Amino acid sequence: MRAIQKSRHLSRHVLKANVSPHIRHNSAVAATTIKPLTSILIANRGEIALRVGRTAAEYGIRTTTLYTDPDAHSQHALSSPYAINLGDPSAYLDGDRIIRIAKEQGCQGIHPGYGFLSENPTFARKCTEAGLTFIGPPSSAIEAMGSKSESKNIMTAAGVPCIPGYHGQSQEPEYLKDEAAKIGYPVLLKAVKGGGGKGMRIVNTSEEFFDQLNSAKSEARNSFGDEVMLVEKYITTPRHIEVQVFADKYGNCVALGERDCSIQRRHQKILEESPAPHLKEEIRQDIWEKARAAALAVNYEGAGTVEFIFDNETGEFFFMEMNTRLQVEHPVTEMVTGEDLVRWQLIVAEGGRLPLTQAEIEQRIKERGAAIEARIYAENPDMNFIPDSGFLTHLRTPKPTPTVRIDAGFVAGDEVSSHYDPMIAKLIVQGPTREAAIQKLRAALEEYEVAGPITNIEFLKKICVSRDFVAGDVETGYIQKHHAELFTPEPPAPEVYAQAALGIALQEISTAGSDPFYTPPVTTAGFGTGYQHRKYDLVEVPADGKGDNTSTSVSILQTAPANFDITIGDQTYQNVTSTFAPSTNTLTTFYPHTRLSTTFVRSSDLLTLFQQGKQYRLQLALPKWAEKALGIKDVTNSVLAPMPCKVLRVEVEAGDVVKKDQPLVVIESMKMETVIRSPHEGTIAKVVHGAGDLCKAGTALVEFEEEEK
Ligand code: ADP
Ligand code: ADP
Ligand code: MG
Repeated sequence: MRAIQKSRHLSRHVLKANVSPHIRHNSAVAATTIKPLTSILIANRGEIALRVGRTAAEYGIRTTTLYTDPDAHSQHALSSPYAINLGDPSAYLDGDRIIRIAKEQGCQGIHPGYGFLSENPTFARKCTEAGLTFIGPPSSAIEAMGSKSESKNIMTAAGVPCIPGYHGQSQEPEYLKDEAAKIGYPVLLKAVKGGGGKGMRIVNTSEEFFDQLNSAKSEARNSFGDEVMLVEKYITTPRHIEVQVFADKYGNCVALGERDCSIQRRHQKILEESPAPHLKEEIRQDIWEKARAAALAVNYEGAGTVEFIFDNETGEFFFMEMNTRLQVEHPVTEMVTGEDLVRWQLIVAEGGRLPLTQAEIEQRIKERGAAIEARIYAENPDMNFIPDSGFLTHLRTPKPTPTVRIDAGFVAGDEVSSHYDPMIAKLIVQGPTREAAIQKLRAALEEYEVAGPITNIEFLKKICVSRDFVAGDVETGYIQKHHAELFTPEPPAPEVYAQAALGIALQEISTAGSDPFYTPPVTTAGFGTGYQHRKYDLVEVPADGKGDNTSTSVSILQTAPANFDITIGDQTYQNVTSTFAPSTNTLTTFYPHTRLSTTFVRSSDLLTLFQQGKQYRLQLALPKWAEKALGIKDVTNSVLAPMPCKVLRVEVEAGDVVKKDQPLVVIESMKMETVIRSPHEGTIAKVVHGAGDLCKAGTALVEFEEEEK
């Protein structure tokens, strides 16, 4: 009832707004009262905390930053002299305590960033009640948009098109199934409180309805503590197109262009661009108009994003949800408008007016071409994008320029913690055209070197050269549809193995004797006094964890201090000159036919090489006798933790006979549950770790009995 009254009231606003789309005359707002912000608290972490801090610093605003125990040495914690330790990893969610700290620190406002408290209406309200400026929309707007079902009722009333579906109160499984039948399969089940792609399931036929409903509910309950579902038509070839809107307290509301975020994995964005490719001008104008109407319908203030699903087949678009915060991908819009959106947020929060009119924004967008953002994640695309974590043993980024921007939360040596989101950085580029921007993005990705956790950088490079993507032929199912093309492995050339072997040898020469912590590996004898011969067995680390473990042998014969003969199989490179610069990890080798400059990073027996824009991961295979000598356990009979994790449940016990793919252990890492399944048939000899145990990557979780031969 309350919702209906609210939407009626709100729809009047929109009618008025439609008459004069950029001006909403709100009599409730008193004459201009500017409340300057000179000191703010940033209630977030990582790149977004640093991003907000940069703008604050530019305008002389003091920032107080928060951190937790695992974040004590992280860049955002170090970025301000005013840094408060919250202790517990989950304390970024402790709104009451954060408000208290802001008051104690003499802050006038709180910037929530994205995630965490940014879309929590209670927190926004409590800030205001405590006399703090919440740098975001009014709590009433967050609340109205917080539910995917209620927001759709408000939008329908405001004349914004919504996907056909059921978003009512009744949650009886049978009733929902009847609604699904009315809508027509396929349908999408969505948690009304959902976010981040969770609590969502596609249902293709009525037979699978209850199974998918249960699974969506369980994920929603675990992630959001709420299992209320809505059912909507599943658009089979959709694009995700969203509009960045901004409103001030005086009824001005503008659209800062649209972003296409169709390249997604697990319903989450990895590439975002503006403008959206091949969008007809009249549709573009219409979608901006509807986005403004959506914002005005909830008396919006500040930065917001109205997300639409665009049907590629019919050209129709439908409201999906509104994100009442600054988004991860806001830099794309900053690139195409030349504006600083955090500054806009501060201006609006202080009670100022929007800096540009709609017409001025359109002019900017016309002049500035295209921008694209790639999210760089610690994750393994070859294992269904499973998150990774760990120390960034080497990090080199492309050079930032006015058209190449890097928003990062880490520097070399930092740890990507398994407590938080695995995003390492965002790389944003701008070009006069979409093609130029993509080309530049590819070049920048080729210069981006990350060793330590596995990243999606190689995968992003493949998308940049994927023909349909370059043609602007995008849809949310792009990655699945182009699976063969995007996941074809490219085996390393012989020179990669040669460089790896030279890297091992030359790095040893450069480090031996100078580093007290350095222990020479057992595979080699002295090299340097008197010329030596060495042999290394190298294995490409299989990206999908499967691989056949075939090793490649490389022989090196030193013929002069910096000269070598290298043999790989029946290929020999004679008398190559090779030098290693430890300060930059650069190995430069002059082969008879070419010069190769390779970044070589070694972390115990794992070798990471960056060569001609590609990353290679190799493993130094220790001979069996060496494994024994070092006490390395034979792990061939064990199932290992693929990443640092916490064991949630163990599904088997010693003595159990299991089938291939049977669940063994359920682990949690980066807030995601992963089921570890049996790689083969066998008998469990031992459960090594139980529920609650924290394990490093590579730790044996379960051991199998020796196979009978
Ligand atoms: P955006 O929508 O801004 O493009 P995401 O959807 O990836 O980006 O979400 C931004 C951040 O907020 C991510 O760190 C994500 O983990 C987090 N997040 C998204 N939705 C929720 C939610 N409902 N609850 C908590 N965190 C969320
Ligand atoms: P979240 O809160 O997790 O961001 P959204 O409702 O914004 O959830 O949807 C996330 C993604 O799921 C969209 O970008 C799109 O790829 C897909 N999606 C959502 N609704 C539909 C639909 N009705 N049909 C097809 N795909 C959809
Ligand atoms: Mg969304």
